[in-house]
Amino acid sequence: SVYWYNGEFIAKEDVRISPDDRGYYFGDGLYEVFRVYAGRIYEAEAHFERLVRTADGLRIALPYTIEAIQQLLEELIGRNGLQEGTVYLQFTRGAAPRSHPFPQGAAPVTMAYCTELPRPLAAMERGIAAVTVPDIRWLRCDFKTLNLLPNTLAKQQALDAGGDDAILHRSGTVTECSASNIMIVRGGTILTHPADNLILHGVTRGVVLRLAREAAIPVEERPFTVDELLGADEAFITGTTVEVTPVVRVDGHAIAAGDAGPVTRRLQEAFAATIR
Ligand code: PLP
Repeated sequence: SVYWYNGEFIAKEDVRISPDDRGYYFGDGLYEVFRVYAGRIYEAEAHFERLVRTADGLRIALPYTIEAIQQLLEELIGRNGLQEGTVYLQFTRGAAPRSHPFPQGAAPVTMAYCTELPRPLAAMERGIAAVTVPDIRWLRCDFKTLNLLPNTLAKQQALDAGGDDAILHRSGTVTECSASNIMIVRGGTILTHPADNLILHGVTRGVVLRLAREAAIPVEERPFTVDELLGADEAFITGTTVEVTPVVRVDGHAIAAGDAGPVTRRLQEAFAATIR
């Protein structure tokens, strides 16, 4: 497949990464995952807004304008003939001998590539089982950085326990999942953690909240507890690759009747309409 690496379109085999890349030493970089439907980037503007916010927060000067990046990603999609899948885009602070201070004069290293990925129709239909795991991350989870070790540990812990994904909580307050946001429905109202520093501000989360408001479904952006989750009428996760996927079991307990609820189904339909 064709990669975009430091401004060039080259074969994956020809990508040469420095052992001094700060992405390896420090996880010193940021990324985005864009969804591609019918060959086009979905919600590009929201992803780029988050990319810029993270780059500013990490004090990494993006080496291209957003317009240039978008054009190059579109060219990458074309060169790879991608119809349905994702584009992964990453910037690290650059390559320099290992030392904590920002290096003088090191240029950010850019990489992007495409992956074919069908919509997760089976999981969206049947729902997933989740496992609650303490959220041991830092206090800027709103930045989409390369530091994903707590996320990978949580995901593996959930898989080892026989679940599909991890629901993270800080002292009993649910934040989000290992690679998605989570919402519950109680008494007809959608509850989800506010978009503060403790969660990633999911692009899909934003779309789903907009769809809920358009459908006149009450929404409260307020933290909820693991107990409220276990006693919820419905629960679902949102994300670029999972779209709107029901959570039907948590820690071995069924959520309500143990299948997807009516609000979840309605939002799935509304979401599907946005990608057509
Ligand atoms: N939360 C985390 C920790 C994530 O890694 C992601 C990424 O997919 C999300 C939430 C969902 O964000 P988005 O809807 O922008 O994909």
